[in-house]
Amino acid sequence: MSNDPIASHTIQPGSYAAGRLRVGQTLRVTDVEGAQIADFFAWSVQDQCPQEMGLTAMVNARWALSVGDQLVDSAVEPIWTIVEDTAGKHLFGGGCCTRAVNIKAGVDQLGCVEIVSEGMLELGLDPTTFQQTTAANLFAARAYHTDGSITGGPPVSKAGDSITFRAEQELYWILVCCPYPSEDVNGGKSTPHRVDIWAEKDAGSEEGVAEYV
Ligand SMILES: [Zn+2]
Repeated sequence: MSNDPIASHTIQPGSYAAGRLRVGQTLRVTDVEGAQIADFFAWSVQDQCPQEMGLTAMVNARWALSVGDQLVDSAVEPIWTIVEDTAGKHLFGGGCCTRAVNIKAGVDQLGCVEIVSEGMLELGLDPTTFQQTTAANLFAARAYHTDGSITGGPPVSKAGDSITFRAEQELYWILVCCPYPSEDVNGGKSTPHRVDIWAEKDAGSEEGVAEYV
């Protein structure tokens, strides 16, 4: 993107950023220091259907998505298109940590589910409707194999790697910077993400855009 973003957020581990996009606006998630998972969510403004990873895998006939692939919502309508990806490895399989999962890992802290619930309240969404299958685990290295096994390991993303999505609907989004204390999940030390947002192509004046970001 050659022009300047219309909004930018830095998200520290254990916190979130949230907002609303118009169709055609683009959102880039940057792994600032590398090896850090982001749990990324979206909902249709029109009917509040969430993005849904099981249906996304079915529509794409793959769970490892790349540039040009689309994420769909629970009504099987496209909600994002991946337009750039310098990291190349993510998990579009759903699932994210909870406070109970963090306690089992030795730290009593809020997990991504409790954190995204705060963001849903801020956006006027009902957190009791939250489903684990709505999480896109950006930069996660976990992988499914044909023998039935699942492998993990730290994210392979390097400092400054990013993935960029274009909004295919007017949508709400939330990005949670996962605090889970694990070498396999966040490289042993959780570090921040940055989110940058650009106006839709040929948007002309940015007047009136700020309320959407
Ligand atoms: Zn988490």
